[in-house]
Amino acid sequence: MSRSAHVRPLLGAVGLCLLASWPLIMSSPYDLRLFTLAGVFAILAIGYQFIFGNVGELSLSQGAFFGLSAYVSGILAVKAGADFPQSFAASIIVCVLLAVLVSIPVLRLSTHYFALATLGVGQVLLLVAIEWQSLTGGAIGLSGVPLPKLFGVQVARGWPLLLFVWCFVALAAMVAFQVKRGLYGLACHVVRQNAVAARSLAIDPDSIRFAMFLLSAAMAGVAGALHAHTIRIVSPEGLDFKVMIACLTMAVIGGRTHIWGAIAGALLVVHLPEWLRGFQQSYLIITSSVLIAILIVAPEGLAGLVDRLLPPQRSKSPDSDGLSPIQDRTSDGVLMPSETPILAVRELTKTFGGVHALNNVSFSLMRGSIAAVIGPNGSGKTTLVNCITGNYRADSGAILLGGGEIGALGSDEIAARGVGRTFQNLRLVDDMTVLDNVAVARFRAEAATLGKSFLIGRRDEKLSRARSHALRVLRRVGLEHAADVNCASLAHGTKRLVEIARAICLDPAVLLLDEPAAGLNETEQAELARLLEALAARGLTLLIIEHNMEFLKNLATHMVCLDYGELIASGRPSAIYQDERVIEAYVGRRQAAEATA
Ligand code: ADP
Ligand code: MG
Repeated sequence: MSRSAHVRPLLGAVGLCLLASWPLIMSSPYDLRLFTLAGVFAILAIGYQFIFGNVGELSLSQGAFFGLSAYVSGILAVKAGADFPQSFAASIIVCVLLAVLVSIPVLRLSTHYFALATLGVGQVLLLVAIEWQSLTGGAIGLSGVPLPKLFGVQVARGWPLLLFVWCFVALAAMVAFQVKRGLYGLACHVVRQNAVAARSLAIDPDSIRFAMFLLSAAMAGVAGALHAHTIRIVSPEGLDFKVMIACLTMAVIGGRTHIWGAIAGALLVVHLPEWLRGFQQSYLIITSSVLIAILIVAPEGLAGLVDRLLPPQRSKSPDSDGLSPIQDRTSDGVLMPSETPILAVRELTKTFGGVHALNNVSFSLMRGSIAAVIGPNGSGKTTLVNCITGNYRADSGAILLGGGEIGALGSDEIAARGVGRTFQNLRLVDDMTVLDNVAVARFRAEAATLGKSFLIGRRDEKLSRARSHALRVLRRVGLEHAADVNCASLAHGTKRLVEIARAICLDPAVLLLDEPAAGLNETEQAELARLLEALAARGLTLLIIEHNMEFLKNLATHMVCLDYGELIASGRPSAIYQDERVIEAYVGRRQAAEATA
């Protein structure tokens, strides 16, 4: 192991020691109480990272779940005499149930709509808390919530309570670690950075967002219940939007994806006002200025800053010994007898406003064939791919895969049935290594689920297998040497090849390539052509969209030409090149464009 590989564990150990010695140094009851509260907020922030960090959704209901949980615990303990395990469990369950209820209408919304919709949850709960006086104590709230009691032993104030709460912080951190470390965590990352790419790899972003939202709510439930039993009162203040702002600040200041960032953020946000109290009236201004200064220096949070300063972390490439060659796809039953077209498009029509992007397009592909779609810019080629892969819903017509209709399915489902694709405008995750960009395509094949990511073990076996598979594919496309490189630093042509490798790693029956030769030099084009021929020889069906006739000349066995959304010619390349309409529509117009350029 290189020396730089030791830096992170060493820093982690130093950080843990500092964290452990902090309350030892300042052991006044007030300091201990503050540190305990910081623990409660650390759990809230770790939970918030699931939705805000892992999948990148700006949820504004985390504070509401926190306040609700505190109320449930408080009411059950004070009014119904429930003991700690009961009120604790009930708080989490109520939060998760509310999250399920909220997510049905809200989770399909994106960006600011999602933020606004989740903001409403807290406002409604705050009104209920103030108005339903008989249950909640109205504006004053409820006091006399007992300290936690486990197995008949009450956890006393001071050190015992601090340790009790920080045990939960450790548990929350472990849960977060389990979720992030494996193939499921990798899929979350892709969902956050590029949901369309995730769908093309048979990953369903909606179900991942749903799971992360529930997990966030459950953690807010844990934090809220602990808060109620720690400060021993519940009041509308817990539902105030200030709690949400504090939570958001912790996640942003600490770093939205690193677990320790959430803990550091919570410690800082809880302690900073106390440290700066000496400035009396101006302390709020100074606190805000310090937070803004941190954000200017480290826009990606403290954890991101440390990441930037440390040497880059290499992804752990699996051993490359003893690996078998890629196997032909045999699953899913989409491989039909050779006389049945593997993919058939029937009278497909798609309009955008008044533009006929596709008009009554029909053709079919036989297994193992290499077909090409040509046509001038704007003739509907990308729209055709998007309709087949479910990114667009066609207005009419049918799309059959192995004889079965797929036109109504979502794009992740279509990918799962064996349709892989690349994008004309590349959709790789730049801050992930080449290996992981490709490995994530094994998500469905490995049946990675949130539940399975909790299985104990430092390494996720699914991720190891996915990386092994990805490495075989990379070796095949000649990119093994770049496995550990972040995609951001790759040349455009190499990125295209990585996208192709990623699609192959999905193990599809049909592969749709949208202008794969764009940006490649002649040698690279020749290599790509050889690779595609080899893939077709092993039974993969290819549909290539391309402008580059030279590239297609010896590659395609069948060609269709689109013009203004209409299929104007279909047949063998030699015949297509001679076709009057093709020459007029495509070659002629292109030459005219070149002449005027
Ligand atoms: P090509 O890939 O052949 O260059 P496209 O399929 O991208 O062509 O586009 C075909 C036509 O459909 C163009 O006129 C384009 O402007 C239109 N189009 C494609 N996608 C959309 C969209 N999402 N919204 C509106 N119009 C679109
Ligand atoms: Mg296009």
